[in-house]
Amino acid sequence: MDLIYRYDPYLPVKVDTAPDAAAAIKILCDGNRRLTSVVAQMQRTTLGEQPTEAIVVPFCPVSLGLPLWEGAVATQQPYAMVLGCSDARVPIEPIFDQSFNDLFVIRIAGNVLGTECLGSVDYAVRHFAESLKLVVVLGHTGCGAVGAAVETYLSPKDYADIAFTHALRSLIDRIMIAVRGAANALTQVCGRNVVHHPNYKDALKELTVYLNAAITAFDLRREVAAFGHESMRVVYGVYDLATLFVTPAPLASPTEPGFAPAPQQDDLANLARQLAQAVVDKGLLGTRIDVWKKIE
Ligand SMILES: [Zn+2]
Repeated sequence: MDLIYRYDPYLPVKVDTAPDAAAAIKILCDGNRRLTSVVAQMQRTTLGEQPTEAIVVPFCPVSLGLPLWEGAVATQQPYAMVLGCSDARVPIEPIFDQSFNDLFVIRIAGNVLGTECLGSVDYAVRHFAESLKLVVVLGHTGCGAVGAAVETYLSPKDYADIAFTHALRSLIDRIMIAVRGAANALTQVCGRNVVHHPNYKDALKELTVYLNAAITAFDLRREVAAFGHESMRVVYGVYDLATLFVTPAPLASPTEPGFAPAPQQDDLANLARQLAQAVVDKGLLGTRIDVWKKIE
């Protein structure tokens, strides 16, 4: 299988433009679709499938966001801001097949909204008001920071080192509201006995990842509005380490990437229950969860 990056100075330059938030969402979804498609083709080739024709990726300094002439410096013009996690497996630009000067990226463990993050958000919305059309909160499955918050919630004594370390606690505290909301939602959807289910911890971690991204988006929209940008669209999604797809709810076999708008305050409890149901539907609590529910 040949994957060819080709630069032809005589070909017309194709640059993705984002005149509005919908166009920005489309560019990100198209990019995530390209990533999942190419990786799926490589995986099939690894398994012995005959490779299809070569994939040719047009390359050009301008479409890459790089200067065309030696010594020139591009003006910073990101079309989207992404708040993501520091996890090494979750690099923002490759996930969306984006390049230089496309995204204003803030990365912090657990994609939580700390004071320093807000300073970066404030800077971006003030300085890139012309080009910036979208704000994205990107969580990811298997998040260590979310996992630590869930472990601290379930076994506070065993996680005293985390709970009593000031620096780490500031991260855990910010995620804890999502952990509590996720625990409540799972109980509402699956019954009180769900806490004794052998897969309960894993299901709670997965649900918390999605709810944490949604709650952070809710907070971020309020902050962006407070900076005077009420019309700026804020969305959230979660990158699945297993499928490479970005989706706003857990799915066993996603086929399309997507985001959801930042929820309103009144929607949060309902959203938590919908996400809990999606975790159940994905099979994270096994196929016999209905039987488990009746034990109560
Ligand atoms: Zn993470």
